[in-house]
Amino acid sequence: MDFARSIAGCALLLLPAVASGAEAPRYTVEKLADGVHAVIYNADVDVEGNTLIVINDDDVFVVDANAGLTTARATIEEIRKLTPKPVRYLVNTHWHDDHVFGNQAYADAFPGVQIIAHPLTRQDIIEHAFANNAFVLDLIASDIHRLGGYLATNTYREGKPLTPELKTRVENGLRTRKEMLVDRSQFRAVPPTVDVADSLTLTRGARTIEIKFLGRGNTRGDLIVYLPKERIVATGDLVVAPVPYATNVYAQEWVKTLDRLMDLPVTTVLPGHGPVMRDWSYVARVKSTIEQTLAGVAAAKQEGLTIAQTTERVQLPEARDAFVQGMETRRAGYEAFFRPTLVRNAWEELDADIMKAVASATLNRVAEGVYVHGVDGAGVTVLVNDKDVVLVNPPEAPAAARASVRAIRELTDKPVRYVVVTTPATPSHPGLDVFREVYTQADVVSGTASGKGIAVSDLLTLHRGTRDIRIIRAEDGSLVVEVPKERIRIARSGRVEVALRKTL
Ligand SMILES: [Zn+2]
Repeated sequence: MDFARSIAGCALLLLPAVASGAEAPRYTVEKLADGVHAVIYNADVDVEGNTLIVINDDDVFVVDANAGLTTARATIEEIRKLTPKPVRYLVNTHWHDDHVFGNQAYADAFPGVQIIAHPLTRQDIIEHAFANNAFVLDLIASDIHRLGGYLATNTYREGKPLTPELKTRVENGLRTRKEMLVDRSQFRAVPPTVDVADSLTLTRGARTIEIKFLGRGNTRGDLIVYLPKERIVATGDLVVAPVPYATNVYAQEWVKTLDRLMDLPVTTVLPGHGPVMRDWSYVARVKSTIEQTLAGVAAAKQEGLTIAQTTERVQLPEARDAFVQGMETRRAGYEAFFRPTLVRNAWEELDADIMKAVASATLNRVAEGVYVHGVDGAGVTVLVNDKDVVLVNPPEAPAAARASVRAIRELTDKPVRYVVVTTPATPSHPGLDVFREVYTQADVVSGTASGKGIAVSDLLTLHRGTRDIRIIRAEDGSLVVEVPKERIRIARSGRVEVALRKTL
């Protein structure tokens, strides 16, 4: 079992600081529309999921089940204050503990309740969340021992004195963990009963409720619940506030999923954690932070940085400050569950993309003596001339470059004389470095002067035996390569176009 993945749902246990704020109410109940209410926890204090309550003509529909028996029972009490109707449907938006461990409280209170989840969420609830209960019980017990020790000795971590503020936090941490210990000692597995892989629309009297899978993001099976008439959406942990959460996310897909989410014409957004939102501004900020992180990680990878160096590099201080708002507990959460984990997930995804491209790269003959090594017609073009070889567009990732070198070696043993870089940026990247190391006698041709390379100022024609190779510079410094004899044109993107116009 993947350990990191399996404990991802236990954020409460990994919180670097114990929660503070004993006097504040643990949750508030907010009316969102007629018959639609939300139970909202203070995300600065509790790692406890929000709940959406939808009261229909004959029954009640609920989204997310809290982290344990105690909090789920408290939510059920709130439902009973609102209506005598039974809860007939409960959605688990995803598999993390704080949204599913209350399932058994609902099954006890409302026999026959149908629990709805994505089929992969159902699998993850059984194989990760529920399967880890014994392990988590051990963690809670050791936490209780550690926190009890702080109180007994009146000292905190590393022998620091236990100030009144720290003491309150330790006492609160102890209280929530003791509650969890009791809850989880009575654990009974109540998994979902209804699969929704794509979408399901429930019509309950006058109410329409749409349950949708918009794509992967926070987990591989995130469902959202949309009330089209009331213009309300419950997002699950695709949206977590005031600090987003990214323990095991699918970073690239998360961006697209948030786009689809923001396409919904709503006026009220209930996030998985944190206060109700009235517009998409927070979600747009999360999306842009993910995009900036992806771009930062991609750039760092191109420079050949390690994952540790990349994590150090991709800080995005403006994004961080906007989320953290100068609060220490938020900063701790941001650094524990968002920034470094998002960087790691983005890194691994981009790595997997490159490895997939390397694995599926093939050497294709385009014309006599012209080959492309890469994926889908784009990649390095290999021009095998009478006595030598000219390469166009070395791949940027080192792994892809090494795969191309191997393929070129198997194709011909003629020496590589020129390596042409068509992109306008400085002709230097880790893939080119691989080519330089292997083809030490080759000159690098680009649209930008650099070192001992050849800079094309307008047009350069290489006469290689019976073949002419025309290299044309565009205004932005990018190059286009034409091989008139074979009627081939290589665009700056690396794509090879055959059958040029006769006028060439
Ligand atoms: Zn959550």
